[in-house]
Amino acid sequence: MEHSPFTVGNEGRQVFWNAEFFEPFLFLFTAVALAIFAYGVYRRWQLWVAIGKPEQRMDHLRERVQSLFVNGLLQWKTFQEPYPGIMHGLIFFGFFVLIFGAAFDATEFHIAEPLGWAFLRGTVYIVFSFLMDLFGVAVLLGVLLAIYRRYIQKPDRLGYQGKPDNTPDDAIALLLILGIIVTGFIIEALRIRVTCPPWEVWSFGGWYLAKAFACVDIGTTKVLHKLTWWTHTFLGLGFIAYIPYSRLIHIITTPANHFMASLQPVGAIEPIRDFETAESFGVGKLEEFTSKQIFDADACTRCGRCQDGCPAYLSGKPLSPKKLTQDLKNYWLEQAPAAVAAKKAAESGSAAAEGAVAPPEEKTLVGGTIDLHELWACTNCLYCQENCSASIEHVPKIIQMRQYKVLTEADFAPELQLTFRNIENNSNPWGIGSHLRADWAKELGIPTLAEDPNVEYLFYVGCSGSFDDRGKKVSTAFAKILKAAGVSFGILGTEEGCCGDSAMRGGNEYLYQTLAQANIEVMKGYNVKKIIATCPHGYNALKKDYPHFGGEFEVLHHTEIIADLIAKGKITLKKPVEGLFTYHDSCFLGRYNDIYDQPRNILKAVPGLKLTEMERNFEKSFCCGAGGARMWMEEDIGDRINNMRTDQAIATGADRIAVGCPFCLTMLADGIKDRKKEEAMAALDIAEIVWKSMDLEEEKPPVEVCTV
Ligand code: SF4
Ligand code: SF4
Repeated sequence: MEHSPFTVGNEGRQVFWNAEFFEPFLFLFTAVALAIFAYGVYRRWQLWVAIGKPEQRMDHLRERVQSLFVNGLLQWKTFQEPYPGIMHGLIFFGFFVLIFGAAFDATEFHIAEPLGWAFLRGTVYIVFSFLMDLFGVAVLLGVLLAIYRRYIQKPDRLGYQGKPDNTPDDAIALLLILGIIVTGFIIEALRIRVTCPPWEVWSFGGWYLAKAFACVDIGTTKVLHKLTWWTHTFLGLGFIAYIPYSRLIHIITTPANHFMASLQPVGAIEPIRDFETAESFGVGKLEEFTSKQIFDADACTRCGRCQDGCPAYLSGKPLSPKKLTQDLKNYWLEQAPAAVAAKKAAESGSAAAEGAVAPPEEKTLVGGTIDLHELWACTNCLYCQENCSASIEHVPKIIQMRQYKVLTEADFAPELQLTFRNIENNSNPWGIGSHLRADWAKELGIPTLAEDPNVEYLFYVGCSGSFDDRGKKVSTAFAKILKAAGVSFGILGTEEGCCGDSAMRGGNEYLYQTLAQANIEVMKGYNVKKIIATCPHGYNALKKDYPHFGGEFEVLHHTEIIADLIAKGKITLKKPVEGLFTYHDSCFLGRYNDIYDQPRNILKAVPGLKLTEMERNFEKSFCCGAGGARMWMEEDIGDRINNMRTDQAIATGADRIAVGCPFCLTMLADGIKDRKKEEAMAALDIAEIVWKSMDLEEEKPPVEVCTV
């Protein structure tokens, strides 16, 4: 072996060793790769801005940078799942350090060293060299994990309906990274084989690999080194150039999407604001989405996390949020070039340019690219959005396309037409006379706000709590708890209207806005400040969507109030409620409003009650199937979602399902019936369990106290 040019204490390595002659060519090829990269980004940029309405996503820079840092740089969302999180983390952080290291090295060589400031020497070099090898190994491991997962393990999420959706692009991206790392280690090994400085033991990857070349003579080693050096260089530069033309574009689009993520409250839906002037409502054409909504699709990494917990997909319906996003992306990629050409023609005023790119064959967005069964299968459970590692917003798009079908085309399911008609006529989905809305409370002596406008809380009962037999029992139990705790509250009685959640999520934004505005007017008329709701759908609408129309209230869910009353000792749970309970997280309570602990804390406070968890819980809970207006629609494709959730509850061995939502209560009670488990199992609202444990009924029923 040749002598090293460095002495111990001045450890380092010669940059461009054995490749001094190549330096100018490297600059040239780097410039070419960067030019191809820049051109690709420019072309993509043209496509991003070609279609779509403008949307402000550059405000609140502090929050946006924070989102970019947490999710883009620290990969917070990606790390929520161990295998894919670690796999992606190894590749991402490894590559990040290697690129940073290469830039550091280049800066030292081209700028610092000529100025006499060389710093990659001695201990600094040893640490640097060790870290570069360590992170190189990390990337290698990450890529091998990715290859194993995609091509051997083949989880369903990396496909659609049991078939993998791998593309050549996936393989090219992985092989490029693998090639860069492997050739990097080989170059290092060949250099060490020739120069053999003892401190290179810290470059452990190359050091041990060098032993494999021990029997190769120096001349051949140098030739091999040159060849590998060029291979490594072309793979690295090829990787850079390939980014904008491949799935690697997500290196740019995904962090950008985190930066532009919605800063609205989780799950809030932007209302239609131009009913008076608009000719079409919702989104029926691609250009009716905003540019950001279209950009969303380009940020999708096809990781499939969204699909993994989508109740529609898992129950065999033709909806997968991943597929929907990819279908939108492909549709945009088909449509956008013609839009770019048209834009250029308009700018240049050249009629000839207009035909430069022929518009693609006419294909509709809603009903064509997005199948109608797909569109209507969504329960708005928000699993996709909350679990998406790219901050993609699926649900607003689905609602907007539904708006188009309902408001522009008046083409939607007959059962939903009946529901809307019932709401229009009687302000409840069942169509029961609105004059009966407060009948459940007749015997309870609850004041209406007309009778006592000075109460502290408005109990917004909602349609289920007012008209559904099971819901009425929950309203009664909750009202009795409030009375026993001495809480000052009242109801709106027949002045209350449907919250409009089902109308809005079913695409009838006009009906929803009418209902919301009417409720807000009544509430404001009584100077309402604080509202309690037992239904998470009403709770969510009042809390997050009513502020769009000036309805600013402090809105609480009944589990929040009950948990607080227990914590403050205002109610005492004394009677044991025996049984093994499992708590079902309502989507509109959990994922939408982050209420996970209060219901569980209440149940834990009930004497005798044992609590067990279903496999899918908290943020990853499984929907009951009723959200997004699905409560009122037939479910004739695939399995029934409520039955699937009931099966998950049955699997825990529990004999009771506790819920905090009247829709979930109905769906799970139906599931129990369908599974013929009525003898062994029941679904109960938290308020019913608490009232039972308070054990006050026989002693002094609130109804008697108030009606004497
Ligand atoms: S909101 Fe729920 S049902 Fe709808 S696409 Fe997302 S995960 Fe599926
Ligand atoms: S939408 Fe989000 S979660 Fe779903 S595949 Fe794309 S990046 Fe993954």
